[in-house]
Amino acid sequence: MKKTFFTPGPSQLYSTVPQHMKTALKEDILSMTHRGKKFHEILEQLQNNLRELLQIPKDYQIFFVSSGTEAMEVTIRNCVMQNSSHLINGAFSKRFWEISQQLGKNAKAEIIEANGTINPLELEDNSELICLTHNETSTGAQLPLEFIYDLKKNNPDVLLAVDTVSSMPYVDLDFRLVDIVFFSVQKCFGLPSGLGVIIVSPSALAKSKYLAENNYDVGASHSFVSLLKSAEKFETVETPNVLDLYLLDKVTQDFLDRGIKLLRKATEEKARILYDFFAKQSGFNVFINHKNYRSQTVIVVDVEDENWSEIRQIELENNLVIGRGYGQYKDKQLRIANFFAHSVRDVERLTSFLRVRNY
Ligand SMILES: *Cc1c(COP(=O)(O)O)cnc(C)c1O
Repeated sequence: MKKTFFTPGPSQLYSTVPQHMKTALKEDILSMTHRGKKFHEILEQLQNNLRELLQIPKDYQIFFVSSGTEAMEVTIRNCVMQNSSHLINGAFSKRFWEISQQLGKNAKAEIIEANGTINPLELEDNSELICLTHNETSTGAQLPLEFIYDLKKNNPDVLLAVDTVSSMPYVDLDFRLVDIVFFSVQKCFGLPSGLGVIIVSPSALAKSKYLAENNYDVGASHSFVSLLKSAEKFETVETPNVLDLYLLDKVTQDFLDRGIKLLRKATEEKARILYDFFAKQSGFNVFINHKNYRSQTVIVVDVEDENWSEIRQIELENNLVIGRGYGQYKDKQLRIANFFAHSVRDVERLTSFLRVRNY
């Protein structure tokens, strides 16, 4: 029997992916040139689908890279001369900060308790880029959108980058109030890993051009200018992950056909089922106390030590794979992905299996 994956990435594939893979093979998508008409058509349609699905403004650019981590690096290189500011509430926001430091920037960190409330970010006067992680996959914390928008309103001249790797396309973001948004596809999109997407505002693009013209190092093949040159021709700089691009085109179309509003509502409904369940079930504790800061797409719960063998047994018997805590929390927490690939029925099955035990 096939397993159901509640891991927060890679995760359960979206239900239509196997069929799209078969079609890709049948139509020789994986052997054809990436400089030809068919590939251009796929990329053009993909760009259109993403614009429609996520409501990306016309003057924002869409670039393809290899991962969320690469998107962090490309963002820092192209938008920061010297100073970046980071709100750190877990391992992924910390990585963003570390990458900025590794690139030789003066990266200021505002660290907040994973399981606490958020202070308004204190920016240094000379900060060029604010870096946020909308959905902190390591802890199950999610920044309220109003918090993100207020930051931009209070700092209109500072570029704002938002990591939405584990919340897009669930999150309904107003792109006009942010400058860089990036995600990879192995989480909420339910695809194989190996593709990242960066969405870039006109101001962020202008900043990158300014840095390049003034001899700052914005990278070579993945400078915004270089990425734009290819994107305008519906090409990519390198031989890309053609399969993932093809699949992303197909599933974005599937999401549009299903209705993005419906998919987002279903995500909230499933999150409610999970949070309600863990609030009542002994042996578990939801990690993020404050309801406003709880993730809708990655639910993190503390597990009492004596229950682990029971949980492993439940997974084995029912062909379930549930995510473990991140880093130091590996043996202390479960992380449950609630992505578009997971149906209400999947989530109800999961809670029913966890419920039958007497912890
Ligand atoms: C998974 C994840 C990343 C890293 O993405 P990769 O595609 O694995 O490089 C970055 N940020 C967040 C919030 C993530 O969940």
